[in-house]
Amino acid sequence: MSSNLRIIKSDFSYDLLIIGGGISACVFASKYLQNNNSKKIALIEVGRGLGGRSSTRISKRFKGWKLNHGAPNFNISNSEDNLLLKNYINQLLENKFIKIDDSELIYLCDEAKLETFKKSNFCCGEGYLSSFSMGELSQKIIEFNDLRDKIDLFFETLIVDLKFNNSGWTLTSKNGDKLKSKYIICSSNLLLHKRSLKILNINQIPLRKAIPKNKDKKIDLLLNFLEKQSFIPRLTFLIYTNEKYTYKDFYSKKYRYFYLNKSLENKYKFERVIFQLQDNNKLGIVVHTKNLDFINSYINAKDEELFKQTIFANFNALFSKNNSVNQLTCNEGISIMKWRASQPYGSAVPLSLQLSKKYRIGFCGDWFEGEGFGRIEGSILSALRLEEKFKTHSNNF
Ligand SMILES: Cc1cc2nc3c(=O)[nH]c(=O)nc-3n(C[C@H](O)[C@H](O)[C@H](O)COP(=O)(O)OP(=O)(O)OC[C@H]3O[C@@H](n4cnc5c(N)ncnc54)[C@H](O)[C@@H]3O)c2cc1C
Repeated sequence: MSSNLRIIKSDFSYDLLIIGGGISACVFASKYLQNNNSKKIALIEVGRGLGGRSSTRISKRFKGWKLNHGAPNFNISNSEDNLLLKNYINQLLENKFIKIDDSELIYLCDEAKLETFKKSNFCCGEGYLSSFSMGELSQKIIEFNDLRDKIDLFFETLIVDLKFNNSGWTLTSKNGDKLKSKYIICSSNLLLHKRSLKILNINQIPLRKAIPKNKDKKIDLLLNFLEKQSFIPRLTFLIYTNEKYTYKDFYSKKYRYFYLNKSLENKYKFERVIFQLQDNNKLGIVVHTKNLDFINSYINAKDEELFKQTIFANFNALFSKNNSVNQLTCNEGISIMKWRASQPYGSAVPLSLQLSKKYRIGFCGDWFEGEGFGRIEGSILSALRLEEKFKTHSNNF
């Protein structure tokens, strides 16, 4: 949890409550506060800090390491046609919150298969890096323009129930805390999606329970689109290398990305391997996989140590003839992060459904339609668009 952000648990009544503390929530909060700085707002996050799927693991076991275990960086596929996004990215650049990512990106191909490399959606357009860690980027965004004192942050608070009546919303947390507000923003679709039934152990989707069918066409449509939205599960393996582990060559930039083509991904089970140089010069490695068999073999593994040895073995086999990457000794520390829903796929929700004036509820996140669907680009853009919609209806909001 960030130490310089306030947490107040005495007064639970707000003008606006934001559910979720990922990058979309932080962009929305920061833009909203710039235009409404007398409003009382709070953000509620189940995790211990900001960032959501673009956050950073600060391990208690492996001291001094900061590894971006979700999105390591982000790309903007097209800001030229979108002034709102372009201006915001420029603002982040001017304030030195982000910088252009000029790290080396290497495509690993299986030469024998002569398969052409299909570029990942994570590489198209311009790439950007956080000037800090990814988790700190969300924090900087929310602190922007000295706004940090204007927002209450509730961490480790999971909202499980939503209720609406004429005076506004009541949100209930798993611990039974009640928070009230005139308006709410959902930056995650957990409380709108059928996966909430299993995750929260409930028998009705919370938003459906709060707003029954046929009360608001927009909400009905939104829930229909989400009915057809699924999620890509992923595992990320965080490798804490030994003191003297370095590259074979003299590469000195902070990040280096290796993307595998399909046949290598099938063979080694890795999607990409990201080297992250630490402030203390140690070299961290984050390996992503979305191979379902591999994920299941982790879930069903009786012996986690054995599974970790498979990760080392695959890594060493993949890089056995590589000119820049050294072999691992196989006694490095590893932690494994399981992303049950790392990215949405399938049906994206139309941006026209972002706001219900009748129910005073707005939505943002990477689950909205557009080129940035399933990526940080989509998260940021949806938050900027939602804030514009709030401004347009400023009499009501
Ligand atoms: C392993 C991995 C790799 C990725 N790589 C890339 C990449 O290279 N490039 C890229 O652009 N994108 C990448 N992504 C996707 C990117 O991380 C997401 O698109 C982006 O971070 C989504 O931000 P968001 O604010 O929309 O949602 P989130 O980050 O999911 O934020 C929502 C927040 O809401 C909280 N929350 C949800 N429900 C509740 C509740 N009921 N109560 C309280 N809190 C709640 C969650 O804990 C979460 O912190 C990757 C994602 C993963 C997991």
